[in-house]
Amino acid sequence: MRKIKIFDTTLRDGEQSPGATMRHREKMLLAKQLEKLGVDVIEAGFPIASDDDFRAVKEISETIKGPVIAGLARAIDKDIDRAWEAVQNAKKPRIHTFMSTSDIHIKEQFKKTRKDALEMSVTAVKLAKSYCNDVEFSPMDATRSDPEFVFQVLEAVIKEGATTLNIPDTVGYAQPSEFGQLIASVRENVQGIENVAISVHCHNDLGLAVANSLEAIKNGATQIECTVNGIGERAGNASLEEIVMSLETRKSFFDAGTDINLKEIFPTSQMASNFTGISVQRNKAIVGENAFAHEAGIHQHGLLANRQTYEIMCPELIGKKIAFVLGKHSGRHATKQVLEEMGFELDEKQLQQVTAKIKELADKQKTVLDEDIVAIAEDVTNQLRKEEKRIVLNELRIEAGNKTTPTAYLSLLIDGKPVEAEGTGVGPVDAVSSALQSVVPTKVSLKEYNLKAITGGTDALADVVVKVANGSGKVHTAEAINEDVIMASANALIKGINKALAKEGAVEK
Ligand SMILES: [Zn+2]
Repeated sequence: MRKIKIFDTTLRDGEQSPGATMRHREKMLLAKQLEKLGVDVIEAGFPIASDDDFRAVKEISETIKGPVIAGLARAIDKDIDRAWEAVQNAKKPRIHTFMSTSDIHIKEQFKKTRKDALEMSVTAVKLAKSYCNDVEFSPMDATRSDPEFVFQVLEAVIKEGATTLNIPDTVGYAQPSEFGQLIASVRENVQGIENVAISVHCHNDLGLAVANSLEAIKNGATQIECTVNGIGERAGNASLEEIVMSLETRKSFFDAGTDINLKEIFPTSQMASNFTGISVQRNKAIVGENAFAHEAGIHQHGLLANRQTYEIMCPELIGKKIAFVLGKHSGRHATKQVLEEMGFELDEKQLQQVTAKIKELADKQKTVLDEDIVAIAEDVTNQLRKEEKRIVLNELRIEAGNKTTPTAYLSLLIDGKPVEAEGTGVGPVDAVSSALQSVVPTKVSLKEYNLKAITGGTDALADVVVKVANGSGKVHTAEAINEDVIMASANALIKGINKALAKEGAVEK
């Protein structure tokens, strides 16, 4: 069976998803989780893009020892220098450099000729190779390029020592059979290709990123670039979990497999979704909430007789447990183990808080599901970052009803000083929002409010995601979970405002 390498670019392409923002600590935790998931390569970022990116790639290189750590660089000297600076301390460093090969990119974007593009590619790989033995090269927009020119560039960079050639469908334009054909023709027409790894990087603009990646595997690709939950630029990248589970479920069809630790798939998906603020669509393959839910009576009947009647994979395989595992009688040890299985690493204080919250919740609702536990653990780890909290909620009181103007009374600490606030609105959440806005800088405004019940039923946890803009228009996403909708809303708003204030500097009054 052929081994397919999983090149995860959640921290680079995934981080480029519109609306995604991960903080440094979250990137580090996700990188750790990706290592646990068993990916072969982590593309940790684009070091030249920002100091934050550089710092993340550097720290991931210094702490994650299992997978190869790749840094992305354009075919420009300063990019490659910076990428090397970031990954040089990795146990297995890689520089990933790229240059467009399509005429539309070369002429319109770069104002250059094919000859220039070829030279830039060669020079970039030569420089990268002088630093690092492991060099990956991508001809950007390969699927809209003249194949002959792509072959020519690939051949030239192999001569300079590139070790992986990645064929990107940058704009998500290719169709599966056509993309498979392109990979086959690369293998037929490029001299020296047998000595390097062939990779693909597909985008999902037409919903074909996974199909195209699988077709590439059938035609000889041995590395797939993908992201957790399929997040990424525009419509996203090929989804890691869908590719891995296709290969797993249809082993004999592909005669290929990965080293992914399947049980970590669901916890990784949850973590990525919590950290990026991009929730997974309910009917998403493999990791969506409905992926293993059966509604039709005839299906349920069949499942009771034999699960294989309507299930091609079982949820346990990807680390998704259907039954609840923790309740009010669970101790710290059980909680610790379950949380570790989910990819969380908590210190003693956080563990105590999570255990207490689970017990509290178990008193209020019948069952505590994995989703609840993840939500609590994520919430607690956030809450501990006291230093980021300029505004702390002490007490919240609400007056509401069909004959009362909804009014919120808040007692807060702002930079350690007690402040009372009062506000009215069309409903209690709106009242909380106006009370808050009356005591924080007027420049902070609520852009988006999103409420969802995590586990269903009237006793479910409420998950509120808000987007708060600061004076300069920069939008910050924050999430909070509580069994009470108003509390979840207030906490999310305060978190969002704290994030906006942390970036803005002082609290103006
Ligand atoms: Zn991409």
